[in-house]
Amino acid sequence: MKLPYAEPYKIKMVETIKRSTVEQRKKWIKEAHYNLFNLSSDKVYIDLLTDSGTGAMSDKQWGALMEGDESYAGSQSFLKLKEVVNKITGFKFFLPTHQGRAAENVLFSVLVKEGDIVPGNSHFDTTKGHIEFRKATALDCTIDEAFDTENLHPFKGNIDIDKLQKVIDKNPIEKIPFVIITITNNSSGGQPVSMENIKAVSKLCRSYKIPVLFDSARFAENAYFIKIRENGYQNKTIKEIAKELFSYGDGMTMSSKKDGLVNMGGFIALNDEEVYKKATVFNIMFEGFITYGGMSGRDMAALAVGLDEATEFEYLESRIRQVTHLGNKLIEFGVPVQHPIGGHAIFIDANKFVPTIPRDEYRAQALAIELYIVGGIRGVEIGTVLADRDPFTRKNRYPELELVRLAIPRRTYTHNHMEYIAAALKNIFDSRSEAKSGYTIIDEAPIMRHFTVKFEKI
Ligand SMILES: *Cc1c(COP(=O)(O)O)cnc(C)c1O
Repeated sequence: MKLPYAEPYKIKMVETIKRSTVEQRKKWIKEAHYNLFNLSSDKVYIDLLTDSGTGAMSDKQWGALMEGDESYAGSQSFLKLKEVVNKITGFKFFLPTHQGRAAENVLFSVLVKEGDIVPGNSHFDTTKGHIEFRKATALDCTIDEAFDTENLHPFKGNIDIDKLQKVIDKNPIEKIPFVIITITNNSSGGQPVSMENIKAVSKLCRSYKIPVLFDSARFAENAYFIKIRENGYQNKTIKEIAKELFSYGDGMTMSSKKDGLVNMGGFIALNDEEVYKKATVFNIMFEGFITYGGMSGRDMAALAVGLDEATEFEYLESRIRQVTHLGNKLIEFGVPVQHPIGGHAIFIDANKFVPTIPRDEYRAQALAIELYIVGGIRGVEIGTVLADRDPFTRKNRYPELELVRLAIPRRTYTHNHMEYIAAALKNIFDSRSEAKSGYTIIDEAPIMRHFTVKFEKI
């Protein structure tokens, strides 16, 4: 008998999670105004709201924590982290920040001005928020294949070079401060970007002297997909692939809460000394002195180890296999999901799952609520609620996809948890024709409304 795949780790510490009943959850979600962000975590059984900062650290990371150097200036933990970042990314300059959006805030304070245009592949919500906050425009140039959830394109995170060329042709070059490549492409399904595409974007941008930045939260997962899906990379290590990938860009922002394998942190790394110098001023103002930038010494120490672990094939294989297993189980049950299965999450296609709920009644949100009620599982809507209103017309923006994202925390849940999630979704899927109405918004913030929006059941 062929031995099945099994995880390359065992468990050293466990954390109790609370079960509850359908009746309890119906009451709790109503009290939370049908916003899953409003639920206290003890009311959630399996928390798939995000894979951001929710993973488990290794024994080596916990060990490193004890060795953290809390010196205000010149911390040894900073120096160690800087060395690891340089080794993995190749970028010369490095600034720690307290998380990914802080890295965006600091770097965009230098680079983005009113009226600017920032092309990219489905900008992440905070990235878009930081661009629009500066009265600039984030232009999505993702390939069309990404919006067809059944298309099996292996690199659906790719940028459409023709779309990018058109943006460059139509606008003065000085209005385009940089192009941002999100690896992996979170909003359109945790989908990777190919090395070939990164090279092509880089070549085009370099011919116009437009810098290329990476929004690198899941760069290691992206490198894994390049290794297993792209010709010529099978025999390269994840670290070699990551280094090559970053060599086609000029800088990066990082949310260390993803592929840094820590619970909090972020950073900026780049090659341009002038930009770095300007960014240090904003870093000191917003984040902290340049050798800690909002991070404790111990957290920088754990991050240095985490970055090294996250760029090892064994770890990535178990990570992606767990997500793929859940995805395949759902496909087996007929549940419409984004294909191919992405790196960090399963994306359920609510347009196909519950077409009976009108779009202006937030069908993906309605599905996420139902999954909570049925299984105590917390996912998140990536659809009309997240897409927010147009900043000028204040009308709802209806994105092409209405998705429910089930983000899988790293090294946290077991195989049995995946089976439980799949079964809960199957039960909802089997009774889906009964779903006719959704929700209406009764209160919302002017920007990034999804965190605090309140709903009422129709
Ligand atoms: C999480 C994330 C961010 C923002 O990082 P935070 O650490 O949550 O502030 C930016 N871009 C992408 C692609 C992300 O996944």
